[in-house]
Amino acid sequence: MTKRINVLPETDVVQGMHYVDPNSGAVVPPIMPSTTFARDGNYELVSAGHSYARDENPTFDTAEKMLTCLEGGQGSLLFSSGMAAAGAIVQSLDPGAHIVIPKVMYWGLRNWMVGFCDRWGIELDQFDPADPDDLADKVKAGRTSLVWIETPTNPTWDVIDIETAAEIAHTVGAKLAIDSTVATPVLTRPIEFGADIVMHSATKYLNGHADVVAGALVTASADEFWERICMARAQGGAVLGSFEAWLLQRGMRTLFMRVRQASQSAMIIAEHFKGHPKLESVLYPGLESHPGHEIAKKQMQGGFGGMLSFCVAGGEAGALDMVRRCEVFIRATSLGGVESLIEHRYSIEGPDSPIPRNLVRISVGAESVVDLIADLEQALDG
Ligand SMILES: *Cc1c(COP(=O)(O)O)cnc(C)c1O
Repeated sequence: MTKRINVLPETDVVQGMHYVDPNSGAVVPPIMPSTTFARDGNYELVSAGHSYARDENPTFDTAEKMLTCLEGGQGSLLFSSGMAAAGAIVQSLDPGAHIVIPKVMYWGLRNWMVGFCDRWGIELDQFDPADPDDLADKVKAGRTSLVWIETPTNPTWDVIDIETAAEIAHTVGAKLAIDSTVATPVLTRPIEFGADIVMHSATKYLNGHADVVAGALVTASADEFWERICMARAQGGAVLGSFEAWLLQRGMRTLFMRVRQASQSAMIIAEHFKGHPKLESVLYPGLESHPGHEIAKKQMQGGFGGMLSFCVAGGEAGALDMVRRCEVFIRATSLGGVESLIEHRYSIEGPDSPIPRNLVRISVGAESVVDLIADLEQALDG
């Protein structure tokens, strides 16, 4: 049947891609725990594309379709974590490749990339995400095969211009991969700005309930490099479990509502606390004073995300005191769940961290913003 209405991704995703089970009429897809799939007497697969569940799991189908739709890509892959998803890209590079990554990015991934590339003979350069010209200086024509970016950048929320980064990467023959975990496809669709591969820690906003560890990649084109990544998952085996994939498709149905609420509350919190006497700065791309605000306005639609940081007066001790006094915010790492979290980032990242010691990272959830503001007020006032 040809469709008369071309709905927005938001509508498709809320409905799990308009899922109706062909056998039962159920509006929720089933969880398929089977590890293997039958063949008929002629040795043809009973269901094309499903053979063995290290790679092809029918429970992935709805979630992967939702991701492809959300990002406007040509295909998606779920992984057992965000790290596994990012790792599959790096592991698909040739020996001797040259890659460029930001100096400030999700620290666990930066540490892994630096160590892995060193051991496997991949040359790695780092650029300053706050300096728009530095990336162009670090790429090498005909040599660089991958430019990695993250925007807004964890945990300072610097904004990288995706369109410019794509141009720089493509000019030297490199692919642009982007960690879009924090922006989410609700606010930014990087493929529209020229990105080749979008990565998500689906553990965060995509699932949204702090109960699944998962990762995802979405590709702009089903090319040879993407085929390699597909093989990296099938053979490397970093696949998600059926139950986790099912929880993820359920979580993604409310993605738009959750991200809009978090963005709205984060904006209110940032405005409320900017200039607060106990704060050196409020880092949030939605504030006009933020150096990345103009670019953020260009590439983020409908909000600036649910993540912000406070640089607290009184140094590391002042930051730790403030965090200690929180009663509504929960002291925990991670982000993107419906419960608001707060953390002293330096304590988590350790002595190699480039993060200011007085930085407190805040993941705004879905609670009443009145309570969130009251909690931060009393925590700062001491
Ligand atoms: C959490 C996170 C990751 C790592 O993802 P996991 O699902 O924990 O493996 C990567 N990038 C960003 C921005 C993250 O927040």
